[in-house]
Amino acid sequence: MPYRATLSRDFPGAVTYERYLARVSRAVMPLGFDREHSFAAVSVCRDELAQPLLQAIMRRWDQPFNLGGLGAIPSLGRTGWRAALSHVPDDTRGHLIVFGLPHIGIDPEGHIGESLRRHQHRVTPTCGAMVALLDSLGRPAEPLPPGLEDHEAERLRTVIAEHADRLPEDLLELTRLAAKAVETEMWSELNALEAYRHMDIVVMCGIQIHLPDEVDHILSTAAASQGADGERHPLDI
Ligand SMILES: [Zn+2]
Repeated sequence: MPYRATLSRDFPGAVTYERYLARVSRAVMPLGFDREHSFAAVSVCRDELAQPLLQAIMRRWDQPFNLGGLGAIPSLGRTGWRAALSHVPDDTRGHLIVFGLPHIGIDPEGHIGESLRRHQHRVTPTCGAMVALLDSLGRPAEPLPPGLEDHEAERLRTVIAEHADRLPEDLLELTRLAAKAVETEMWSELNALEAYRHMDIVVMCGIQIHLPDEVDHILSTAAASQGADGERHPLDI
């Protein structure tokens, strides 16, 4: 199984999404995060491949607020973040658990960035947004005809560019950058709104990896909590 070799070479430590979510629960439970008193907000790509993870989060944490846009970059803006924060249970000090997970695939031959989708016979890019971005890097953005907007792709490009001191060489590097950009973006919005004054927060970021004939895996890239003092503490996942 060539894809298994790619998984362990490029994503060492990745685990199935159920195991990842179990580890997250175990890490945050001592901080008072349980299903009853917590609110989940999730940023995954719009792609249908990213949805099983969303459903698994829903089973564990109840209905989540959808933060995400193309490439899992939060696309809701300040107004959307304010709305999400206002939905956190208020019977005690609130508990907000935020997930941010861009995605990538490995095809049966072990190539990164492609997936065989349901009822299709040829592999296609796992994350079309990320592939398009990689293709366009280093070139000026193409002007769009009037009436055609591409806000999310443009935002993906801008946010990732802010986190890179050089152009990424390949899709794997770009996806790693995206996970970092998602994490930074989430904390800067949460801090700008001083959410920690009203709630305890955990932010969990990683890369979602789609495999042929196996459940999706997650490589955790960042996990941290923030309490009433505004200090951020890393969590072991
Ligand atoms: Zn995608």
